[in-house]
Amino acid sequence: MSKLYAITNQKGGVGKTTTSVCLGAALAELEKRVLAVDLDPQAGLTTSLGFDPDSFETNIYNALIDDEFHVKNIITKTKVQNFSFLPSNLDLAGAEGELIGEIGWDRTLKNTLYQIANDYDYILIDCPPSLGVLTTNALIAAQRVIIPVQSEYLALRGLKQLNRIIAKVRKKGNPELKPKILRTMHDPRTTHTSEIVEELERHFGDQVYKTIIKRTIKFADSALAGEPILVYANRSEGADAYRQLAREVLEDD
Ligand code: ADP
Ligand code: MG
Repeated sequence: MSKLYAITNQKGGVGKTTTSVCLGAALAELEKRVLAVDLDPQAGLTTSLGFDPDSFETNIYNALIDDEFHVKNIITKTKVQNFSFLPSNLDLAGAEGELIGEIGWDRTLKNTLYQIANDYDYILIDCPPSLGVLTTNALIAAQRVIIPVQSEYLALRGLKQLNRIIAKVRKKGNPELKPKILRTMHDPRTTHTSEIVEELERHFGDQVYKTIIKRTIKFADSALAGEPILVYANRSEGADAYRQLAREVLEDD
C-alpha cells in the first residue's frame, strides 16, 4: 500500500506546490513509484509540471464528484520516470460546495485514492491555501502531513491554527495522522530567520525535518519552465536539498 502525504498550510506561497513537485521527483529518482495529486483549484502543481490545466477533458474534480468515474482515467505522466500526477483546474473550486451536502463527504478523496493505492509507493497531495473541504479530505486520507513553513515570525501564528485542525482530524477520524514541519525559503543572511529556525526546533523537536530548503530563484525559474528543479537544475543546491528531504522521508517510513 502507498504512503499518503498531505502537503498543507493554509497560507499561500509557502512552498507547498514546490515541495509536492520536488519531493515527488526526488523520491522517483530513488526508484519509488510516485503520484502527486493536484488538490488546488488554482492548479499550481499541474502548471509547474508543464501542463495547461484546461487542456484535460477530465480531472480530479470528476474523480471526486462522480462515483462511476475511475481515477485511472486521469493519471498523467510527468517528464520524470516513475512520477505521475492527477491534474486539476478551476472546476475543483465547485467541488467544495457539492461535496459538503453528501454523507461521508470528508472521505471522498480517501476512497478515490484507495482504488490505486497498490500502484504507488508514495502519494503526495498538494493542498489549496485554505483549511476547507478539500484540505480536510486530504487530512483524512493521509498518514502524514508535511507543513512547509517560511522562516518568518508570522509563520508561527498560522501553525497554531493548523495544529488545532490536525488535532481535531486525529480525534474525529484519523488518529494515526502525523504532522511534520519543513522549513522552506530559508535565507541564512538574516539573523531573524535563524532565530525562527531555532525556535521551531525548540517548540516542535523531532516533528521538524532536519533538511532546510534555502531561498533561491531557481525554484520559480524551474516552475516557469514546467520542470521540477531536479530536472531543470539537476546539480543545484535546491535539487540536492529535496534529495536530502526524500532520504529523510524514507528513513521515517
Ligand atoms: P504554495 O503552493 O504554498 O502556494 P509555491 O510552492 O507555489 O507555494 O511557492 C510560491 C512561490 O515561491 C513560487 O513562485 C515558487 O517557485 C517559489 N518558491 C518555492 N520554494 C522556494 C524557495 N525555496 N526559494 C525561493 N522561491 C521558492
Ligand atoms: Mg500551491
